[in-house]
Amino acid sequence: MKEFDYIIIGGGCSGLSLAYELEIHKKLDNKTLAIVEPRIEYKRDKTWSFWKVSPHNFEDCVKKNWKEFSIKIPSDSKIIKCDNFPYQSIDSGLFYKKIINRLKKNKNIFFYKDTKNLDSSNSFIFNSVPSIKENRNNLWQHFYGVEIETQDNFFNENVICLMDFDCDQKNNVHFFYFLPSTKNKALVETTWISKNDDNSLKDYDIQIKNYINNRLRLKNYKINYSEEGSIPLFYPLNIREKNIINIGTAGGMTRLSTGYTFLNIQDQSKYIRENIENIRNLKIFKIGKKYQILDKLFLKVLRNYPQKMPAIFFKMFSGSAHNIIKFLSNKSNILEDLTIILKMPKLIFIKAIWKK
Ligand SMILES: Cc1cc2nc3c(=O)[nH]c(=O)nc-3n(C[C@H](O)[C@H](O)[C@H](O)COP(=O)(O)OP(=O)(O)OC[C@H]3O[C@@H](n4cnc5c(N)ncnc54)[C@H](O)[C@@H]3O)c2cc1C
Repeated sequence: MKEFDYIIIGGGCSGLSLAYELEIHKKLDNKTLAIVEPRIEYKRDKTWSFWKVSPHNFEDCVKKNWKEFSIKIPSDSKIIKCDNFPYQSIDSGLFYKKIINRLKKNKNIFFYKDTKNLDSSNSFIFNSVPSIKENRNNLWQHFYGVEIETQDNFFNENVICLMDFDCDQKNNVHFFYFLPSTKNKALVETTWISKNDDNSLKDYDIQIKNYINNRLRLKNYKINYSEEGSIPLFYPLNIREKNIINIGTAGGMTRLSTGYTFLNIQDQSKYIRENIENIRNLKIFKIGKKYQILDKLFLKVLRNYPQKMPAIFFKMFSGSAHNIIKFLSNKSNILEDLTIILKMPKLIFIKAIWKK
């Protein structure tokens, strides 16, 4: 049995982000780290996108920056500029490669497929495998996306479509999202916010095909890549134990109203690295309390009035782009919060306070 100073369970986004942050700040020169990850090989499996509201370590893995995004509902649409906070997409394939190449150079870092040969009794553990207790009322953001390539130039590569609600909602919340990386390549995703019990929402292939053929009016294209995922819009069990800290999704890093997680993971990694010498007494890093409360209320409205959500999202983006981006990226001040809160339809938010 081998002993380590630190063990990271799960070498995905948060496990590798933390290992990289520790490594580049020389916190692993005199400490040993084991990373436990069962996957056989690392390859591109996710596209992590976000508004760049703070610096991060993976600028060289960014596929593209956009300075405009659009929102569409059946009766209206708008294009919003975000010059100060560009929308970025990270290619997970480049991210994994960059980190693994760097970590492999440090003789104190070891990779394992499971925990069988590890003695964890004196180690500090960072766990990124969520412990999820299913509840009928839990909401999930679930989606399927394909990267399509067209023969001729078709897309406006400067504008992403953040949310296109002009599609069948089936009494849930449904939108299409697409990220054009060039004039003839784009990632097109069908996204639902719903409970996990309705398989009729999961004929993703058909939804994508119909959207591409009928809404984008595109016939000749090929699919180069696909990704599927579901993000819990509730917090997994996150109990701080003496020698364990949960990180990533398991550690509550998802913004529940949006599913955005990537930059929160980077903030959490930085916080852990800055406090690694005092890790056993460290307080849990959390998304700000005000965002937790507001997101909970927002999801209550969404659960009770799904048909109102396209208009609510549209309204949310009708003011200053700067304020809404900061709000959704948990970087807003109280005045910026107020500009968003005041835009919301008061009655249904007040009613939702009393609902389950
Ligand atoms: C397809 C997809 C797209 C997403 N897009 C975005 C986005 O655009 N923007 C954004 O902000 N967020 C996005 N998210 C949400 C979030 O950023 C990602 O889920 C992110 O990968 C979370 O990091 P993590 O480390 O918590 O989990 P993961 O990256 O999933 O890492 C967990 C790791 O644990 C490993 N593992 C599983 N079981 C065990 C076990 N028993 N023992 C050891 N290891 C185990 C897994 O193989 C995996 O590598 C997306 C999520 C998905 C699924």
